[in-house]
Amino acid sequence: MPAQILDGKLLARQIRGELAEEVAEFVASRGVTPTLAAVLVGGDPASEVYVRNKRRDCEQVGIESRLHHLPEETSQAELLALIAELNADRSVHGILVQLPVPPQIATDVVLESIDPSKDVDAFHAENVGRIVQGQPRFLPCTPNGVIELLKRNELTTVGQHVVIVGRSDIVGKPLANMLVQRGVDATVTVCHSRTRDLPAVTRLADILVVAIGRANFVTAEMVKPGAIVVDVGINRTDEGLVGDVEFAGVSEVASWITPVPGGVGPLTRVMLLLNTLTAARAAVG
Ligand code: NAP
Repeated sequence: MPAQILDGKLLARQIRGELAEEVAEFVASRGVTPTLAAVLVGGDPASEVYVRNKRRDCEQVGIESRLHHLPEETSQAELLALIAELNADRSVHGILVQLPVPPQIATDVVLESIDPSKDVDAFHAENVGRIVQGQPRFLPCTPNGVIELLKRNELTTVGQHVVIVGRSDIVGKPLANMLVQRGVDATVTVCHSRTRDLPAVTRLADILVVAIGRANFVTAEMVKPGAIVVDVGINRTDEGLVGDVEFAGVSEVASWITPVPGGVGPLTRVMLLLNTLTAARAAVG
């Protein structure tokens, strides 16, 4: 029987509806509109689309978004000066610097310069540390999207062996840290490009999460029959957007699977809105 679909698009619409109500209640009771400052440096077309989508999402739920679009040749000092201004601006609750930034700017320096209480991507070392300790201020958007997608489809992680392929700071590592927390209670294996006999490891997964950025990399032979497969990958190909999982073959083996597009991506976007509301609540009380 083909796998059931983990429909991220539908779920994201539902969560946006819930958030719109929460934002309206917050605005009515506190007289403050949650506000996200988005910083885009240069004219990378994919980044422009991402930022446009994030701003549209904000509008849909009543969050104000302010765009700071700086030229490609912006220096690190100029970007840090803008971030310092946004850190000090009490009307801004969340700050998002769209990555990647141009090569003259050091990503880690920029991310560390954001006030941790406004760091709605949860990339600052203080927020990463809080996640590891199980005391998060914000949950990172893509990992939280993955967990919410499972949770809202009543797919438990408790006692499940989750194999994550990919150890990036944005997806693999924070997801692993979240999954081992008490209450989530997964047994986690993290794989990467140096993992020996990857198919033997992925076949152990009750839940397989793939985030490597290689089109159709995971095939049916790499998946245990009945496993849940979450495809985080987004790859632009001549056939359009595809994930890291070869969907047609794997959906014959898995019990549940995310489509690409329409799986994890929409949930990632919604989690940014949640974090912005959380930041506004913490700032206003
Ligand atoms: P990244 O920083 O490029 O990291 C890729 C990871 O995959 C690395 O840990 C790398 O291992 C591992 N890897 C690469 N080739 C491998 C192989 N053949 N076997 C095993 N592991 C391999 O990627 P990322 O930022 O996490 O993004 C991954 C994918 O997710 C991309 O397609 C990206 O577009 C997508 N993404 C989607 C969302 C969403 O909302 N849906 C959000 C973020 C990212 P090493 O560490 O050993 O190099």
